[in-house]
Amino acid sequence: ATPMSVMVGVGKAAEAGVLIRNGEALQTASKITAMILDKTGTITEGAPKVTDIILAGATNEAEVLQLAASLESGSEHPLAEAIVESAKEKQLELLKISAFEAITGFGVQAQCQGKTLLFGNVKLMQDKGIEVTGFTDQAQALAKQAKTPMYFAVDGELAAIIAVADPIKADSISAIKRLQANDIRVIMLTGDNKETAAAVALQAGISEFFAEVLPEDKANKVKDLQNHGEIVGMTGDGINDAPALALANVGFAIGTGTDVAIESADITLMRGSLHGLADAIAISKATLRNIK
Ligand code: ADP
Ligand code: MG
Repeated sequence: ATPMSVMVGVGKAAEAGVLIRNGEALQTASKITAMILDKTGTITEGAPKVTDIILAGATNEAEVLQLAASLESGSEHPLAEAIVESAKEKQLELLKISAFEAITGFGVQAQCQGKTLLFGNVKLMQDKGIEVTGFTDQAQALAKQAKTPMYFAVDGELAAIIAVADPIKADSISAIKRLQANDIRVIMLTGDNKETAAAVALQAGISEFFAEVLPEDKANKVKDLQNHGEIVGMTGDGINDAPALALANVGFAIGTGTDVAIESADITLMRGSLHGLADAIAISKATLRNIK
């Protein structure tokens, strides 16, 4: 495309809330054959809320929430915010923690009042030798409702399961339909567990998804698809998504996402809506038509 037509395209996109960082991305967008969408914060609102607390070893729900929130005050993960927010709503005071550690893709741990706190997915519990049998059925039932169950352990014993729900954005379904109508293969990637991922993908109208993907493996999925001849678009909002955004043929960041994601992407969807994807592709097509 001529520099002039690219400029016009970039301007049109900006009006639609789609910020294009380089002209090449605008030209490549129309050629995308596969679009990877991150789940949390991309397809979903990314503002999860606590929905269920199932007591295991613990006997007091408020105490569990207080300890879990104190632990999560060290994390910036959207799941952590949900826990802290829920404790605040219940006017629970956050306790001082030490030796905080985030185990990316798995959960968090820290010390609090002489206790060792551990919070995260079932794999984290298995790694740390925490007994969870007897509670996995309940966790799975929550996951089937598209909620994310997390396991909370105190001093090596399961204390509770805390589930959060993160509803999909109201217009994600229609935006995904537009991509599919353009013959684009839509694939969801998430670090979340399989059951939750399946339930969210079903709601979103996506048949192809990969769950329990570790942060470092998101970029590998992009590479895999490229090796199979796909022109890959990647859309994400998190620090986890940055390497995949950089590697994709076109990286799209959610405008409300992390700075790292925005810096790694070619295009930013300022309105946060996935409709920006089909808009960008349509403008890309129009731009390329103008030069012929
Ligand atoms: P996503 O790709 O959905 O953002 P992540 O890779 O960040 O997922 O996390 C994968 C899983 O690890 C989460 O679904 C959760 O079970 C667990 N996890 C990660 N961070 C935390 C945290 N701060 N607190 C509790 N659990 C966490
Ligand atoms: Mg995300």
